[in-house]
Amino acid sequence: MDRSREFVDALVQSFAPAAYTLDEQDRRSYEADWRGLIDEPAVAVLLPSSTVEVAEMVKLCARFGMAIVPQGGRTGLVAGAVPIKAFAQVIISMRRMSKIRGIDSVNNTMVIEGGVILQSAQEAAAAIDRLFPLSLASEGSCHIGGTIATNAGGIQVLSYGSMRHQVLGLEVVLPDGQIWDGLRSLRKDNTGLDLKQLFIGSEGMFGIITAATVRLLPRPKCTLTMLAAIDSAGQALETFVKVQNLCGADLTSCEYFTSGGLEMVLDHLPDSVAPFRESYPAYVLLEVASLDSSADLLGRLEPMLAELLENETIKDMVVAQSEVQRLALWKLREGISEAERAIGGAIKHDIAVPISCIPDVITKISEGLHGVAPGCRLNIFGHLGDGNLHVNVVPPQGVALSEFYSHDRCVTSYIERTAVEAGGTFSAEHGIGQLRVDSLEKYRAPVELALMRTIKDAIDPTWMMNPGKVLNLAR
Ligand SMILES: Cc1cc2nc3c(=O)[nH]c(=O)nc-3n(C[C@H](O)[C@H](O)[C@H](O)COP(=O)(O)OP(=O)(O)OC[C@H]3O[C@@H](n4cnc5c(N)ncnc54)[C@H](O)[C@@H]3O)c2cc1C
Repeated sequence: MDRSREFVDALVQSFAPAAYTLDEQDRRSYEADWRGLIDEPAVAVLLPSSTVEVAEMVKLCARFGMAIVPQGGRTGLVAGAVPIKAFAQVIISMRRMSKIRGIDSVNNTMVIEGGVILQSAQEAAAAIDRLFPLSLASEGSCHIGGTIATNAGGIQVLSYGSMRHQVLGLEVVLPDGQIWDGLRSLRKDNTGLDLKQLFIGSEGMFGIITAATVRLLPRPKCTLTMLAAIDSAGQALETFVKVQNLCGADLTSCEYFTSGGLEMVLDHLPDSVAPFRESYPAYVLLEVASLDSSADLLGRLEPMLAELLENETIKDMVVAQSEVQRLALWKLREGISEAERAIGGAIKHDIAVPISCIPDVITKISEGLHGVAPGCRLNIFGHLGDGNLHVNVVPPQGVALSEFYSHDRCVTSYIERTAVEAGGTFSAEHGIGQLRVDSLEKYRAPVELALMRTIKDAIDPTWMMNPGKVLNLAR
């Protein structure tokens, strides 16, 4: 009997039917990544409902030498949560571990399981008048465990930091099935190494995050959301700097997108409304928040905005007058990935550069790419205030993505090199997964890669936890 068959027999004997699925049809919805680029079979999909069950499953996998792919909401954009080719693997989906274990409005903390959907965590915090500040366009599907494993960023990093900044403690099932209970809820704890940092952003290669203690913040009592139409990335940067200088940490978001991204949203997402009568080359979406319900945010910004309009740094501007209008403006930015998927997808990149370099980098990429992939359409958008741009290269009209992928190597090499030469990174918030393993090998120093491998060897000596993700298997 082969190893997979023996494993499946032992699985069926050891766990209740609700704790796994072997059915080929059911497995399909766990095997393909969000972008539809990778779709490899898993031996089984395991569906634990408690930390102890996760630990028992991991021990069973270790006993049979079965590799594990931890899976959250499967919204990752680098195919980290789905199997790799030619390798017997099981997926451990965390979707049944979705309890909020506790919430403390004095300590301002919440203990939540790895499979809690991000939006549910935000809602639980809001129910006690607190803010859980991580916010992404995928928040209706992605899990807390997935956002920790990827150190997710999103639209409010500017003010509140990425997921790493929200985590105070973790509970993790290690590759040998041991449970590490590190669910501390302290802001200060210098007792030896801060082990939770190892697991944050490790993309499931050191263990399965079953629960976390996260910090909560006071909830802003008023917000001001504005969309500015601009001619160039330079003007976007100038607007950002002016608003940030005036508002400091009250500026919670500063997002950039171009007319191409806006057109995709208007054409493909129902109920999206054009914000201006005419089209402009680019847009900046800014949001300012205050804990003071009587703060006059518009009054504070008005003189400076008037000056920017007067000297034509900003060509036109809308200010949301209601929550409905605010959400409508956000839809124009947050709907871009979904709209891009609707037109067939793109070669996607997620770079970060020093904020001051953004205009030059956008110019260099825009000018250079047409030589690399003639006829391509560039869809650049992202978190301008964090220096983080999603540089998506859409095939020419009428060309399928599968056909356009023949340009992937040249396109990727050009964009990554441009970002790195500007002192930036080729992956700002999406991570490495299985799509960027070669880039990691190329751009991180040998000493860094050796350190990463040493840590992997120590925690997961047989490399059975999410093999082929982040680090190259060939060693
Ligand atoms: C429309 C859209 C918008 C997005 N916007 C943003 C954005 O603004 N900022 C951003 O950072 N990302 C963004 N993303 C990417 C994605 O949503 C994030 O990476 C998110 O954190 C992934 O969470 P997930 O639960 O879906 O994880 P998955 O996709 O399921 O998994 C991601 C990685 O984490 C590992 N993993 C998952 N759960 C666990 C666990 N419990 N324990 C250990 N490892 C685990 C997986 O093995 C995999 O390597 C976006 C994606 C989409 C589709």
